[in-house]
Amino acid sequence: MPGAASIPSPRGQQLAKRARGVIPGGVNSATREIGNPYGFVRATGQYVWDADGRRYVDYHAAFGAVLLGHNDPGVNAAVVKSLDEVDLVGIGVTEAEVRFAEMIVTHVPSADTVVACTSGSEATHHAIRLARGLTGRRRIVKVQGGFHGWHDSVARNVISPPQLAYGLDPMSTGILPEVLEATSIAEFNDIASVEAVLAEHPGEVAAVIVEPIPHNVGTLRPTPEFLPALRQVTERDGALLIFDEVITGFRHGLGGYQQICGVLPDLTTFGKALGNGYPVAGLAGRRDLMAGFNSAGGGVLLAGTFAGHPASLAASLATVERLQEDGVHARLFALGERAREGLRDIVARLGIVAEVEGFGSVFVLYFLAGPVRGYRDLMRNDDNAYLTFHRRMTDRGFLMLPLALKRNHVSASHTEADIDLTLEAAEEVLSEMLVDGTIEKSR
Ligand code: PLP
Repeated sequence: MPGAASIPSPRGQQLAKRARGVIPGGVNSATREIGNPYGFVRATGQYVWDADGRRYVDYHAAFGAVLLGHNDPGVNAAVVKSLDEVDLVGIGVTEAEVRFAEMIVTHVPSADTVVACTSGSEATHHAIRLARGLTGRRRIVKVQGGFHGWHDSVARNVISPPQLAYGLDPMSTGILPEVLEATSIAEFNDIASVEAVLAEHPGEVAAVIVEPIPHNVGTLRPTPEFLPALRQVTERDGALLIFDEVITGFRHGLGGYQQICGVLPDLTTFGKALGNGYPVAGLAGRRDLMAGFNSAGGGVLLAGTFAGHPASLAASLATVERLQEDGVHARLFALGERAREGLRDIVARLGIVAEVEGFGSVFVLYFLAGPVRGYRDLMRNDDNAYLTFHRRMTDRGFLMLPLALKRNHVSASHTEADIDLTLEAAEEVLSEMLVDGTIEKSR
């Protein structure tokens, strides 16, 4: 359990105990086990309440799935309305599925056609199998620190300890060695590392899959040249380029990060913020590539009982409708910038070794000396300081996931006052950490 459970939580602990009796480890996704707070009973806007009645300003945002705020009334109303009309039929197509695909095609520059699914892992699984099916090649390339879901081809080398980084670092037992071996690891913002893998395995790489901003290790901002170079080298090699926009998509802009950076991938995966917390994800891409699915006469299996569930698609359509309103992204970016600027001021005032990173609504406080360009730099992060900071912020009512390198998310429900209160608390916590020796002044 990361960090100590420092606040008495009788009801939360009781719930966690019951959970451990019937759910392995007491949680349905391993990184949900953070100790205190254990369980939640209510969520609205920027707030969540734990089982013991404590309120938190939520920066965890369900790993970034909540973008408008919890229990958004417009999204919930759209879901209820959709259930009055139709639930899952599971044959043919519903109008919501057509509108969902049209919505993504309208906004996302590289999207000609779209399939809906229920989770980001399902989307990246589809993308990778499609890339292998189309190219007849077996190898996948991902970067150290990139996370693309829980399935075999990608479940390796995310937050690796230094001794395993860039080597073989599976996230799970039970993966066939030949599957692990068929995924190569490169370094973000280092095109030579990608070229080296392509050169080592000529004609073998089906796809390079990358988060255009690797947010699974906080925030690695791409240099202006990296993503265009990635486009070039994959094209030259005959490998597909997959942008995994499960976090960046819709959170950073309606057209995803690809619209911001101007680099068009062959395939794009979406999830998380796309449905403001409802289970919906998608894969989009060039028409000729997407025609590789057997639904369109190709050879790659497309299947899923719950794919395109009307309630989830109603949530997604209502979410994107809100995001289309003037100023929603501008507001998210301004709040994110207020948090980053405020943290930078605090770091300077206290004279500590820390680096503020982020993009748009995402902010991160690393405990290392900059700059931060790739995973290699993140290995300098003081994980204990990072966990302590997030744990103590959470104890003060500002929910930040106490796991190393995990990011914080602002939602459209947060206010400037929330950010200012968060910064006040952050200054207190960091000052405390200086006094108790968890961190030191820079020399
Ligand atoms: N891709 C990225 C970039 C992610 O961050 C995640 C989840 O954190 C996934 C894929 C997997 O999505 P899901 O958890 O919905 O399966």
